[in-house]
Amino acid sequence: MLLLTPGPVQTDPRVRAAMAVDIAPWDLDFRAEYAEIREKIVEVAGGTPGHHVTLPLQGSGHFVVEAAIRTFVPAGGAFLVPMNGQYAERIWRLASEAGRRPIAIPVPDTRPVTAQEIAAGFAAHPEASHLIAVVSETGSGIVNDPAVMGEAVRKAGRRMILDMVSAFGAWPFRLAEHDEIDAVTFTSNKCLEGMPGLGFAVCPADRTRERAGQAGSWSLDLGDVMLTAERAGWGSFRFTPPVQALRAFGVALELYEAEGGQRVRLARYRENMRVLMDGMTALGLRPYLAPEHQGPVIATFHQPPGPEAGGRFVLQDFVDALKQRGVLISNFHTTEAPTLRIGCIGAITPDDMRHAVAVMGEVLEEMGVLA
Ligand SMILES: *Cc1c(COP(=O)(O)O)cnc(C)c1O
Repeated sequence: MLLLTPGPVQTDPRVRAAMAVDIAPWDLDFRAEYAEIREKIVEVAGGTPGHHVTLPLQGSGHFVVEAAIRTFVPAGGAFLVPMNGQYAERIWRLASEAGRRPIAIPVPDTRPVTAQEIAAGFAAHPEASHLIAVVSETGSGIVNDPAVMGEAVRKAGRRMILDMVSAFGAWPFRLAEHDEIDAVTFTSNKCLEGMPGLGFAVCPADRTRERAGQAGSWSLDLGDVMLTAERAGWGSFRFTPPVQALRAFGVALELYEAEGGQRVRLARYRENMRVLMDGMTALGLRPYLAPEHQGPVIATFHQPPGPEAGGRFVLQDFVDALKQRGVLISNFHTTEAPTLRIGCIGAITPDDMRHAVAVMGEVLEEMGVLA
């Protein structure tokens, strides 16, 4: 099956094969392996060794995003969030239920937030300590650029937390250039092309240490993760980790380095995107975003008219027919208008994309959607 979903993504067979063993997480050999993964992550983040630390958590992306918010925004504290997509709404919900107060910067889901909007938000809300933002919005495909947001946050003298889950490892980013960042969060199973099961935050060590014990949750306290590492070693875990997924992630990181790292990975994803865009527009599908706002991770297209509009397109039928031909895409949309969404990330190549476009063309023709 060719997975064209924005996570979990298609993985290399070598990554999957690394899972087929029993491992004890406290075994000294494995501890060394895990400690090395943490160091490599600081490097991939463009962080400063000794100053920035990798704080892993069991679970999916939401867990580590919530942990970062609980750790760095005080209980009852307020923060700004640009509301241009589905994942921003998730930040809103998990922060609210954790007793933090999100303040919306209203932005349509078809473009990134601007520096002016962030400046105006902070001016109107002196009580907001942070900007918390999704970088690659996996609902629509836009990218809120950390460089633009970071500068606006520094000017306002506030702090920033990034949900970089679907961009980390591909989008150009150097944590060392972002003094304003408390946490950048991501998972094992998106642009780094590992298996699901782990979330990561990369944070400044001193600020994290200061915040320990204030998350209102032991499980989700990144400060406690940090203190434990200092006490028990950087190869230690507080609770049982998904140890096979962690070892597979180590292999995924080796493949990432061998491929050429961020630049080369981004170039491959951009080429996947270009092949997809050219192919789909040639089939008559209309992209949801203007080209200047299209990020490299996820493509969304307006759904062709369905029966309610006198047309023949039904998303679930389309997805089922693709699956029969070995191509899997999402069977739901999270944009303001009905779209179909296709991921360009994972261990997939432009040739895979060409194949997928050909298959989508066949199915659309069979459905009687193409003229
Ligand atoms: C995938 C994703 C997440 C995390 O989703 P999980 O299902 O919890 O792993 C968070 N934010 C963004 C932008 C994502 O793409």
